[in-house]
Amino acid sequence: MTFDNFVCGQWRPSRGGATFGDENPAIRGSNLAAFQSSTPEDVREAVDAAAGAFPAWRRTPITERKHHVETFLALLRDSREELARIVTLENGKTIKESRAEVESALVEGSHHANQVEAFFQASGPGAFSDRTWMQYEPVGVAGIISPWNFPMNVMCRKTLPALLTGNTVVFKPATFTPWSGVFMATLLEKAGLPPGVFNCVTGAGSAIGHALVTDPRVRAISFTGSTAVGRQIQQQAAENLTRTQLELGGKNALIVMEDADLARAVDAAVTAGFSNAGQWCTSTSRVLLHRPIVRPFLEMLVARCEKMTVGDGLSEATDMGPVAGPTQYRDIRAAIRQAKADGARLIAGDPEWRAPSPEPRAPSGEPRVPSGEPRVPSPEPMGYFIRPTVFSGVTPDMAIFREEIFGPVLAVCEFSSIEEAIALGNRSMYGLSSAIFTTSRDTARTYIDGIEAGLAHVNVHTGYKEPAMPFGGVKLSGAGLPENSETGLEFFVDRKAVYVR
Ligand code: NDP
Repeated sequence: MTFDNFVCGQWRPSRGGATFGDENPAIRGSNLAAFQSSTPEDVREAVDAAAGAFPAWRRTPITERKHHVETFLALLRDSREELARIVTLENGKTIKESRAEVESALVEGSHHANQVEAFFQASGPGAFSDRTWMQYEPVGVAGIISPWNFPMNVMCRKTLPALLTGNTVVFKPATFTPWSGVFMATLLEKAGLPPGVFNCVTGAGSAIGHALVTDPRVRAISFTGSTAVGRQIQQQAAENLTRTQLELGGKNALIVMEDADLARAVDAAVTAGFSNAGQWCTSTSRVLLHRPIVRPFLEMLVARCEKMTVGDGLSEATDMGPVAGPTQYRDIRAAIRQAKADGARLIAGDPEWRAPSPEPRAPSGEPRVPSGEPRVPSPEPMGYFIRPTVFSGVTPDMAIFREEIFGPVLAVCEFSSIEEAIALGNRSMYGLSSAIFTTSRDTARTYIDGIEAGLAHVNVHTGYKEPAMPFGGVKLSGAGLPENSETGLEFFVDRKAVYVR
């Protein structure tokens, strides 16, 4: 299968004629389909289409724009199982996690669609008086650059608010997960959007990102990914004073006090540490333990890790799939080796572990009738599998304490007081998410006020979020207005002050 770009309501190949493959990370060397290796020229044509469609789309009544988005959400609901399989095939996460990702996109998309009329009513004629008012206006063409870890949910969280508020879109999916992105484009096409309102261009960010970010007709860039690329995008966007919404990395801390419900705290560490193989920007990455409970907590945590089934995400029995690709596999294993060399104690996980060979499957992903042969560990890695890994005895001078690993690796530190715990939590250049487990209101309040993070959770894991709440980080974890809540819409509008005499 070869998939084209979607530009101006048409599916077309790249001007350059080159394509790239899409590997299933559970099966090293596999190729699911081919996608366009687009060029800056393709991006220019997509921006041409989006800029051309903008004047009519911005004048389209809000109810009509909302109707298109709701039609898209209905199509998404109908195809959720098909899409979940695509997400698992190209990203590796378990099928249950992929279904949860689709559900999350539906919840967030519905939230924005339900919110948009009230959002515009807060401005416009009559809001202050019939002679003076403020009105929201769409900014123009929005560039959406999404990552591979939530390939369809992040795209929806950015694209739907942009469309609802009257902007047109050029979307670039991550190279590891182009299929999810192209699938979303097919649903938006079926939802009957006018040509040019939504455009999808695949290809390497290093080859086409600059053309998208620096085109003066692109007035907003919403990006999720690494801090390094986010910083580069903000510098490039500054040339045209293009606004940016950057959702970047994290080194999120879970603090566990001696008065906590330990079973729930361990559950939170496992859920937010190892879901999606630890590749959430809000994954728990550091576990900070009050000294009196270190031993019982770690015994429970290690027991949970050892029970987890790691394997092909398409199997319903799998608890954790592979990491997303060869780069992640290499970098995470290097970080594990570094932690060992730095003196941290490996108490769960084995970097040399080899997964059993995958269940035989047809190219469609359907299980083949089992041959009856026992499945044995493969001598060579079959896919990019890493077992849930825990290091204890971590100190702030170690790389594993400071650097985002973006994999199933927890770094455990100890502390003696809530003040010390907060200081440790804040000892990071990042500030995305955080959590504390405690039964003391006072301790919870001290933590809420002291932690430097965009998300603060009490007795809830670090990955939890709701669509009505802002989603974004502080320090090097993000910049610009947060996603979700009303700011998810606000990012895509300008304010005009109107005076009539
Ligand atoms: P990147 O930041 O490189 O990629 C994210 C998106 O940006 C992809 O669509 C990518 O395209 C695109 N991109 C890459 N280079 C440019 C560029 N110069 N201009 C415009 N767009 C560009 O992240 P990686 O995929 O390399 O992951 C590296 C690390 O980033 C992870 O290990 C993790 O630490 C962090 N990360 C954080 C995420 C989060 O949720 N906050 C999500 C993903 C990654 P392409 O795929 O073609 O390179």
